[in-house]
Amino acid sequence: MVDKNNQTSYDVLVIGGGIAGEESALNLAYSGFKVLIVEKDLSVGGKMIHLSKVFPTLDCSACITTPKVSETARHPNITIYTYSEVKNITKLSEQNFSVTLVKKPTYVIESACTGCQECEEKCPIIVNDQYQWDLVARKAVYIPFSIASPRVAAIDIENCILCGLCEKVCPADAIDFTQEIEEIPINVKSVIIATGFNLFDPTVIDRYGFGKYKNVVTSMQMERQLVPTRPYNSVLRPKDGKMPDNIAYVLCTGSRDETVGNPICSQVCCMYSVKQAQLIMGALPMADVTIYYLHIRAFGKGFEEFYQQSLSMGVEAIKGKVGKITEKENGNLIVRYEDIREGKVKEAEHDLVVLSVGILSNPDVKAMFNGNSIELDDYNFVKQVDELINPAKTSIDGVFVAGTASGPMDIPDSILSAGAASSETASYIRKHQVESSK
Ligand SMILES: Cc1cc2nc3c(=O)[nH]c(=O)nc-3n(C[C@H](O)[C@H](O)[C@H](O)COP(=O)(O)OP(=O)(O)OC[C@H]3O[C@@H](n4cnc5c(N)ncnc54)[C@H](O)[C@@H]3O)c2cc1C
Ligand code: SF4
Ligand code: SF4
Repeated sequence: MVDKNNQTSYDVLVIGGGIAGEESALNLAYSGFKVLIVEKDLSVGGKMIHLSKVFPTLDCSACITTPKVSETARHPNITIYTYSEVKNITKLSEQNFSVTLVKKPTYVIESACTGCQECEEKCPIIVNDQYQWDLVARKAVYIPFSIASPRVAAIDIENCILCGLCEKVCPADAIDFTQEIEEIPINVKSVIIATGFNLFDPTVIDRYGFGKYKNVVTSMQMERQLVPTRPYNSVLRPKDGKMPDNIAYVLCTGSRDETVGNPICSQVCCMYSVKQAQLIMGALPMADVTIYYLHIRAFGKGFEEFYQQSLSMGVEAIKGKVGKITEKENGNLIVRYEDIREGKVKEAEHDLVVLSVGILSNPDVKAMFNGNSIELDDYNFVKQVDELINPAKTSIDGVFVAGTASGPMDIPDSILSAGAASSETASYIRKHQVESSK
């Protein structure tokens, strides 16, 4: 099996097409290396493409990401497989990795689909839209989101009833129910792991009522309510569509918490909550926003000023540990918390609660490496074996790590980490070329 460029070998395999994977791929592609990006999702872009604005500058996230996504997609030295995964990687010798990829069927011919969405209109099946974090619905045949790359339809076969309506209306004859899983063998000289992070699942903390009380949402659901392509065109309470006017943030949900098995700081939740608080005050000028925090970790450049700015805008910050959230009949929520400064247990009423969920490792990586298994750290992130001197180096020579695959970090740090991964990869390949030519 060969790809669109008739290639089965590449200099570098980048696993994951988020901001760290794209940045690594572009750096290497501009240095003349042939790069293959394998992305598990239907679109590249990672989490960043779904964010509203970014702290501390409040630049529009999609406006920064989409040019990078198109630059990556158009670069002649970069090939992208979306909806694909790495089945196994075997190191045969230095600069010689044998890799098996799995390309999953979307039941839509990518090169034929024009993205017209006629199939979506006719499809009778409605399910939760995972790209809007279940806030709204989508069809069984769907374009993942408006700025997806590639912007083509896919059929969610698990929910499809095979009624054939999409096939009948598609003007491009792009629907193809005969597609099957393809296994693609390739060879690469080096690998960059950029598989990113998973979000903490707040249903684990039953006391917070996520999943039970509709007006308890996650920070990612709030991100979606704050983007220009937001599902409701305003910030609304999911339970009754009312505009909230008293919103609470519960920081460290699933971070720095031994009881849920994650004792480390997620590094971004304080600042993304402060960011969202400021954006809410812009979207709903009359709303009160309260942040319940253990410590505000405003460690980066401009972060402390950003936090102070939110306080001066009227955000209330309470040093308090939230113990329990309960729902009133009208959908409002009672937040029971320990006021750490006063040493008292208190209660406060809010009409929307946002859980600032933490960053967990992505467990996919462990299963990819045949025999030569990759070392993970105590929290199951990819271990940086020489963290101070070669931060992208892993336990397998020739395999590097970029972005949040090695631990929680924000976007600028993910970009820096991708810079390290791509330059260490280039040195690895060049070094072996020089040695073998001696
Ligand atoms: C609610 C929220 C708000 C945030 N706001 C900000 C902000 O304002 N500013 C800021 O700097 N940071 C912010 N962040 C942090 C930011 O999202 C991360 O720093 C950034 O997304 C990390 O990029 P990444 O490429 O390492 O990982 P990801 O964005 O997770 O990308 C990883 C990619 O790898 C793919 N992948 C995963 N597993 C596999 C596999 N097995 N095979 C192939 N592909 C795979 C994924 O589908 C994904 O496309 C926020 C985070 C959250 C949760
Ligand atoms: S065949 Fe499936 S995807 Fe197509 S319209 Fe019917 S239910 Fe929707
Ligand atoms: S599959 Fe057909 S109908 Fe659906 S978006 Fe693509 S071209 Fe349009």
